[in-house]
Amino acid sequence: MISKSSIIGVLFIILSTNTQFTMAQDVALVIHGGAGNIYKANIPDSIELLYREKMKEALNAGMEILANGGESIEAVKMAINIMEDSPLFNAGKGAVFTSEGTNELDASIMDGATLNAGAVAGVKHIKNPINAAIEVMNFSPHVFLIGNGAEAFANNRGLELVDEKYFYTKKRYNQLQKIKEKEKSSQGLHESKKKAYKFGTVGAVALDKAGNIVAGTSTGGMTNKKFGRVGDVPVIGAGTYANNKTCGISATGHGEYFIRSVVAHDISSIMEYKGLSIQEAADEVIHEKLIELGGEGGVIGLDAKGNVMMSFNSNGMFRGYIKESNKPYVFIFKE
Ligand code: ASP
Repeated sequence: MISKSSIIGVLFIILSTNTQFTMAQDVALVIHGGAGNIYKANIPDSIELLYREKMKEALNAGMEILANGGESIEAVKMAINIMEDSPLFNAGKGAVFTSEGTNELDASIMDGATLNAGAVAGVKHIKNPINAAIEVMNFSPHVFLIGNGAEAFANNRGLELVDEKYFYTKKRYNQLQKIKEKEKSSQGLHESKKKAYKFGTVGAVALDKAGNIVAGTSTGGMTNKKFGRVGDVPVIGAGTYANNKTCGISATGHGEYFIRSVVAHDISSIMEYKGLSIQEAADEVIHEKLIELGGEGGVIGLDAKGNVMMSFNSNGMFRGYIKESNKPYVFIFKE
């Protein structure tokens, strides 16, 4: 005979195991590789495939970390490092050129659990600027370091520094020459930038089993930038924001507009104050407020439940997501 108390005991064990099981958060990862004037007709099939494969690689590598119980920050770092190391994207190895023919990189990271953040701007020798942003967040009393100081700090932290030549790619160099030609013509820089610009910044947002959201973004900025110009990417609240109460956001687009609109933080605030979903909040910012100002680009994000958001007002945005070890989904055009 099975006693009443042993049945109750078994039921208790089953219930408590189940409770523990359902308490673990469903993990998710979303990435972008830049937005802009991206048409199917402009990208040869072979190059399109390379983009799709690289984004899948980044998503799978990040998900492996999350699915094994790893932290969001590790997944974001992994996904961004893979895109920084690829010449396809305007970050790390594929960074665009400044007007002077140099490469100046920006990156930032934010932890939604603690609201800690780290950022670097105008760095010329750090192979993976997102790693420097993470070091700033975790091992300095500061949030934002620039230029030589940021590089000295990264060096002290043992990060990999490279010769400036590492960032040279023929494609980006030719883009600089082309934009300089247009600048000379009567069309003017502003017009040509608006019509032809392809943003290529990379970003990632992850949600781990503990329910923590982390967002990160890394970029070479905008081709032909001058006078130490810095865009939205390393500006917390503009290009990157994370808060476990609402969402994590990473942006890509014409940085000046994203700074003026405080895009990433605005999306979080709209969710908090108006109770809108992450997609509704992002669409309000990207398709209404930003368009009113004349800003072009997009955002990706996750909310605390792992709902994926992707919103852009340009012709295309390299983007993708993966949930719970399922297969990765990647997109480029309006599809
Ligand atoms: N937002 C970046 C910047 O303005 C550019 C980009 O997203 O490609 O620096």
